[in-house]
Amino acid sequence: MKKIATLLLVSAIAQSIGAQSFIQAYKDRAEMVTQTNIINNLQEFASFGIKKTGTIQNTNALNWLKDKYLSYGYTSGQIIEDPFVYGSSTSKNLVITKTGTLYPNKYVIICGHFDTINGPGVNDNGSGTSIILEAARILKDVPTEYSIKFIHFSGEEQGLIGSDHYAYNVAYQGNTRVLDIKLVFNLDQVGGKSGNNNNTVYCDQDMGGTTTNDAASADITQQLRNCTALYSPLLTAVDPAERSDYMPFEEKGEVITGFFERIESNYPHTSSDTFANTDPVYIYNIGKATLGALQHYAVATTANSALGTKENQIKTLESVKIYPNPVKDILTIELPDPNTRNFSFEITDFPGRSVLKTTNETQINVSKLENGAYLGVLKTGDQTVVRKILIHK
Ligand SMILES: [Zn+2]
Repeated sequence: MKKIATLLLVSAIAQSIGAQSFIQAYKDRAEMVTQTNIINNLQEFASFGIKKTGTIQNTNALNWLKDKYLSYGYTSGQIIEDPFVYGSSTSKNLVITKTGTLYPNKYVIICGHFDTINGPGVNDNGSGTSIILEAARILKDVPTEYSIKFIHFSGEEQGLIGSDHYAYNVAYQGNTRVLDIKLVFNLDQVGGKSGNNNNTVYCDQDMGGTTTNDAASADITQQLRNCTALYSPLLTAVDPAERSDYMPFEEKGEVITGFFERIESNYPHTSSDTFANTDPVYIYNIGKATLGALQHYAVATTANSALGTKENQIKTLESVKIYPNPVKDILTIELPDPNTRNFSFEITDFPGRSVLKTTNETQINVSKLENGAYLGVLKTGDQTVVRKILIHK
């Protein structure tokens, strides 16, 4: 008996390590998250203004999200609007389903709210929104054993109204569990505050409420930490899951986890929750961790996906180095291909006005620009990369 018990123990350990071992294909896809896409998503999200639940701005953002999924190749049949009543108006969650190969009726939910309050909400929660979009874009044609639901909730800032509606009226009807949910992976406020050393992300673990699901949350939260270490440069810490869209699922007994920024910004829920005040490099890194974890949870194929030529070119230009940042006088551009002949570099302020433009220069004098946050746009041929540039003298 002893021997059998030992063997079982050994195999259980081997399996848990095996499930968390480094997978090159997962890393390759995590590396397909681009800083440029994250920045463009954040800027577009910001452009809709205050996306308060029930407003036209909220609806405009929902329609923008739908168009994003269509542009990635998802069909309108995969995209469902989930309306709910809020006061005297209605608002909508947006739910996109990608069907699994082995367990089509069991779902990994990745979610985050897109409604904002008092400001453009670039951190809370344009950050999570921009990452979910990148995950959906990259995994569109990647087979996963489990189905994935990408869910953008509204009504979060009024008290989790959208996610509450979905958990109680769609995933469950009364006490009947309609949707077989493997786990809920929520991203909220992962933007970081510009200027901080944002090198650690909180992994949210369910430590209260319904108790039957706590152990399983501890398990998948540890897996989230492992994936973050395997597929991103970030460190992790654990904090208790609370006050976000996974909570209605937790109440129903579902297994939850999530990401939240480790150094909490004081800008959310104010008009200063802007792109300038957010750290897009942190969001980019959390994006890589998210891709790793989502592939792990949904069991993505480990077969290597050869990147297309175009994708490779973009990936190459994305590795451009623009430094130092913050910069006070001379900005250096180090192109991945030093033989690149024709390129332009333009710096714009946040209203989008051009403040400096150069062609084919790798040493750029920015000493005449005022202190602040800018966008640097590098173009060559039909490729564009975008970076946030801080001028600080
Ligand atoms: Zn939030």
